[in-house]
Amino acid sequence: MDVIVGHMGWIEVICGPMFSGKSEELIRRLRRAMIARRRVQVFKPALDSRYSEDHIVSHADTRLPSIAINHPGEILSQIDWRTQVIGIDEANFMGPDLVEIATQLADSGKQVLIAGLDTDYMGRPFVPIPDLLCLAESITKTLAICMRCGNLAKHTQRLVENEDLIVVGAAGMYEARCRRCFEPGLPRQESFSFAHPALPSMSKPGGE
Ligand code: ADP
Ligand code: ZN
Repeated sequence: MDVIVGHMGWIEVICGPMFSGKSEELIRRLRRAMIARRRVQVFKPALDSRYSEDHIVSHADTRLPSIAINHPGEILSQIDWRTQVIGIDEANFMGPDLVEIATQLADSGKQVLIAGLDTDYMGRPFVPIPDLLCLAESITKTLAICMRCGNLAKHTQRLVENEDLIVVGAAGMYEARCRRCFEPGLPRQESFSFAHPALPSMSKPGGE
């Protein structure tokens, strides 16, 4: 993306599971733009007030001031039209209307940097990230480390019993898992030892 100069807009998407460094990478890119004296505004869903109401915050505690919104349409009403670079974190909480809003912003010359979960707690594509990936000029997929086995993790494992699509939470409620260790939905108590059924040493203690 660095080769594009002038007043052209574009969409960059950073996606992956929780704990994979999406917010860190978004903050790094936005800080770089600020150092280059680009006018930057950052938006996040008001729903996600886990660490701060008015900052985007990574799990390693890097942070950047942000505006909390309840609907992606509020980006258009809250934007200072002199802004050149727009950061949007936790896009998976913003719903399908973000696709049209991001397109409008990019078409009007803004650089739109979007971070969000690409899959939900069941491993299904998480609206609106799939559509944004199709429309983006640049895509970065971040990976975490599996908390079970240390492989590369692309899944967000929910650790608490809840079937709602959106349950805001962090460590303790979710953890990163690789495709082998991921258990879609709730990990049942008895499934704990069966992450690798192919490995005899991982069989249930005292079991068959
Ligand atoms: P995301 O926005 O994708 O949830 P963050 O940018 O907020 O990720 O946090 C990434 C940081 O989370 C990493 O730099 C690391 O310090 C921490 N972290 C916690 N658990 C893991 C894990 N399982 N794998 C990788 N990083 C982790
Ligand atoms: Zn694993």
